[in-house]
Amino acid sequence: MDRLRDRTALVTGGGNGIGRAIALRLAQEGAAVLVTDVQDDAGEKVAGEIRDGGGRAVFVHHDVTDEHSWSAAVDRAAAEFGGLDVLVNNAGIGDLGAIEDTTLEDYERTISVDQTGVFLGMRAAADLLKASGHGSVINISSIFGASGGFGTSPAYHAAKGAVRTLTKNVALAWARAGVRVNSIHPGFIDTPMLDQARGTEFETAMLDVTPMGRLGRPEEIAAAAAFLAGDDASFVTGAELYVDGGYIAR
Ligand code: NAP
Repeated sequence: MDRLRDRTALVTGGGNGIGRAIALRLAQEGAAVLVTDVQDDAGEKVAGEIRDGGGRAVFVHHDVTDEHSWSAAVDRAAAEFGGLDVLVNNAGIGDLGAIEDTTLEDYERTISVDQTGVFLGMRAAADLLKASGHGSVINISSIFGASGGFGTSPAYHAAKGAVRTLTKNVALAWARAGVRVNSIHPGFIDTPMLDQARGTEFETAMLDVTPMGRLGRPEEIAAAAAFLAGDDASFVTGAELYVDGGYIAR
């Protein structure tokens, strides 16, 4: 449990859900973590939890759709920790409607956070990740980045599918620069993102299409991220790792 000693990580959307679990786990593994989020109280709390546990962490307010916010976050990682080894592009939002009910504004908002935010993050962190000598990027896509899901949430599927191929594209671009780039595809995970689905037919449907018959836990995604972040995954790049209770195997 000390696989990331002397490494530094930036986790977007680190205040809640999966990002929180990833930030805590990378810190447990020894990394210094820059926790970023638009939710200041939640993000500060996670950074505080890490420090209380004896780890190193700083919270920075950061909107992943804003390129200036990205420069500031990456500069802060360099200033606080002297560099950046691991970038986790986790921040995301969902959309729930049918395509006929999706406004252009809604569509573009989801694309902006879930897809453009990942592009901006990798571009902003490129120099530091290459300088690291063992850089690792983990992009959080979804099972909905590789399937049509329930035929709803069109912007989310479009964005998560783009993250899957963008990951492979940048993995090739950086393969000889010492930076690995992989995507994780969570199934249905018990986080605040699912709050709007609780008690609805969508919740029943999620369990029906998950062969293991339960929701995943954020810690189960964090375990996959801890593997991809460090040297255990030193020959893994351009991969898509499904942590989904068997969903994609059906
Ligand atoms: P979550 O509980 O809603 O946490 C996401 C965090 O990201 C929230 O704090 C959120 O703030 C923040 N965020 C939203 N927009 C942002 C922005 N523009 N800049 C920075 N931070 C922003 O979601 P989660 O379930 O942990 O999801 C994390 C990632 O996993 C997402 O990419 C999601 O698509 C993916 N994923 C989740 C599931 C699942 O079942 N939960 C399944 C597959 C993939 P707000 O609360 O203000 O939005």
